[in-house]
Parts: sequence; C-alpha cells; structure tokens
Amino acid sequence: MRYKFNLIMAVEKKKTIYGRTVYIPQMSFEGAKCMAAAFHSVGINARPSPPGDIHTYDLARRYLSGDECLPEAVTLGNFLKITQQPGYDPAKTALFLPTSNGPCRFGHYYPLAKKIFEDRGEDDVMILTTSSSTGYEDIGKRAKDFVRTAWRAVVISDILRKLLLKTRPYEANKGEADMVFSQSLNWVCQVLSIPIAEISHRVRMQRLQEVLVNIRQAFAGIERDASKKPLLIGIVGEIFCRLNDFSNENLVRIIEMHGGEVWMSDVSEWIFYTRDEEILGYIEHGRRFSFSMLGAQIKLAIMRSDEHKILSVFKDDLQGYEEPSNIRRFLNKTRPYLPREGARGEMVLNAARALWYYEKGAAGVVDISPFTCMNGIVCESVYPRISRDFEHFPIRVFYFDGIHSNIESDVEIFLELARNFANKKARRSTEG
Ligand code: SF4
Repeated sequence: MRYKFNLIMAVEKKKTIYGRTVYIPQMSFEGAKCMAAAFHSVGINARPSPPGDIHTYDLARRYLSGDECLPEAVTLGNFLKITQQPGYDPAKTALFLPTSNGPCRFGHYYPLAKKIFEDRGEDDVMILTTSSSTGYEDIGKRAKDFVRTAWRAVVISDILRKLLLKTRPYEANKGEADMVFSQSLNWVCQVLSIPIAEISHRVRMQRLQEVLVNIRQAFAGIERDASKKPLLIGIVGEIFCRLNDFSNENLVRIIEMHGGEVWMSDVSEWIFYTRDEEILGYIEHGRRFSFSMLGAQIKLAIMRSDEHKILSVFKDDLQGYEEPSNIRRFLNKTRPYLPREGARGEMVLNAARALWYYEKGAAGVVDISPFTCMNGIVCESVYPRISRDFEHFPIRVFYFDGIHSNIESDVEIFLELARNFANKKARRSTEG
C-alpha cells in the first residue's frame, strides 16, 4: 500500500469549526506555531496543543491499551491536558489530527481520539483530520488557501529549525540563538496569519521574504566562538519522535552539550515523499494521463516554487547543508539496502538520509525511534551494512519509550566514535 497524505481538510459533519479553538499537536513547537498562524489566515482560531510533561503519560495511560506507539500516547495525552484547562468547553474545541493510510499506527490516532472523547461524553469536540476520501466540508472554499499557507508554514519552520541548529553550537553567549529563533518565529507567524482577504499569495510571499531577510541578518549577528569545533551529526528517525523534544528527552541538546552540531531531516522531506508516492500510485494504476495526475503535478510544481522562493533567501547560508532536490534520485541511494518498493515510509527515507549525511561530510548519524516502531527496527537491520560499505560510518539507533533513561553516557560514547571516524577520515584525506 502506498502512503497517501493529502493536506485536504475534512471535518466532521454537522459541526462548525468557527467559534472553536483548533489545537495542533506539537510535533515541534515551531511547526505547530506556524501551522496555527496558517489557520488564523483563514479565520480559524488555533494554537499549539500543550507541551509534554509528566502528566501527559498519566492522562494517556487512562485510555490506552499499551499497544500504542509513543507519539500516539504523547499526542493523545497532550490533547487530554486541554480538558483540564480552565474554561474548557468541548463545543468550542477542535483537535487537528492528520492521518494517513500507510502501514503504521498513524492511521489509528484519529479513530482512537474520537472514541476517547466520545467515551468521556465529550463528543462535541471536533476532530479535524486530513483525508482524501472525505473531501472538503466546513472550511470549503478556503481550504486551498489554507493548504498553500500551511505548506509555506512547514517550509519556514524547517528553515528556522535549521538556522537554530547550525548556529546554537557556535554561539559565544549562551541562549542568544534560542532568543533570535523565538523572535524569528513571532515575525514569520505575524505574516503567515494575515487574513487571506487582506493579502494575495504573491504578496504574502513577498512579505515573508522580507521578514526572512531580517531573520537571516539576526542569525548572522549572533556572536560566535571561533574556538568551538562541533562535530556534524545527522539526525534521522521517526518524524514525531525526532522533532518532539519531550519524546526524545532533549536528545538534540544533549548532543550539542557533548560537542555535536545537529542536522535534522526536514518535515517537508516527508511531504515530498508522500506526494511522490501518490504520483507513482497513479502511474501504477494506469492513470498517468488523468486529471488526478495533472492535479498532483500542478500541486507539486507550486510546492517546489514556494519552497524555492523561501530557500533562495538563505542560499549562501546553507552551502554544505543542501537538501535533496529530487526525491526519486535521493531514494535511489538506498536501493541496494532498502528499495522503496519493498519498504515504504520513513524507513526508506532514513536509510537514504543516512547516506546523504555521509556524502555531506557528517561524522555520524543518530536515528531517533520510538520503541517498537517498525521504522527503527527495519533501519537498525540495514545500518550495519551501510556503515560497513561507507568506511564504518557511525550510525546508531536511540529508542525511546516514555520512561526516562540516562542517555547521556550513550551519547558521549557515540560522539567519541564519531570523533574517531572524523579524525581518521581527515588523516586519510591528507595522506592522499
Ligand atoms: S511510524 Fe511508528 S511511531 Fe510513528 S506513528 Fe507509525 S507506528 Fe507510531
């Protein structure tokens, strides 16, 4: 089965979204905040769902069987925290819960959330999902505008994260990069949230580019400590767990603390992949020359064009940190280890990405995976071959299950391996 993840809003019949607050799961805070701004642009009040903490698991466990994966527990636990907020009113609450029909538990979130709120007697809560089968409902004619702005929100949150991660390990004054990041997020959200009635997509893009130029300058103005020489560590893994600091126990900061600089796979990579899967699905089913195919190609062209305009502001800053421009060529890298036809989803992206990081000169790769998730398990079985074929490139899977563990010493050991790898590689290149 091919992955399908369409950013088409489907809402439950007989409920209106207007007058509600839409809560967006914090895969990453920046992603959720930018997405909330995109909702504001079509007149819908939205905000990130509460962040994870000790109560997240307590609340989730009251309703879960134990078969759920960590991201599902965290997402539902944080949604349940909304019910404890003062003034909570199910009739004024909506939960944003994307779904897909891929071969993992992601497709299970939506029905389970619906059941939990029904069992609580709170079926007035609206659950918005993304589905190609249910079509447009409440936000109807604004859905296309929302999707366009939401895509820009994804690309921009990816770029802000990248700027933060490539700056923070070098900062001379602790906390400065985080401060600039937070300010930047507010700036872009102001533009993303301007109502569509007041601004065309073309003008919004111009305004975004102006803000991004300011953001670029703000990051460039951060004082750097020239004595710091962090090791570049690529991060792959399950999309929620790698982006959600609570789920991965702040692994990125721990890597930074031990002398690493992190380069993390983007969210947009996943969206390009699902879009490509959709196109391949049409070809497979003899619909190469169909309106659906034409629509998918047009959407892809618009997405690429918007992405290009956003990234063009940073072209000098991202040298050496380029992203793959063609998802099929990118996935061909992993064909000897994990061909995409036989291993769908994040596992194939992660394996290809590990090779990408190797080619870009990273000193090692960390795969962040929820415990029992098949992506991490499959990847762990092919990483040793990839590592052996590429100079014993260090790759390590870190599993998370919501039970706080002491990962610092594991990180320290991994970085030592990565340091040895980088030193040996440098010696080999000087020796000729
Ligand atoms: S990829 Fe794994 S962790 Fe993520 S939703 Fe699917 S089963 Fe859960």
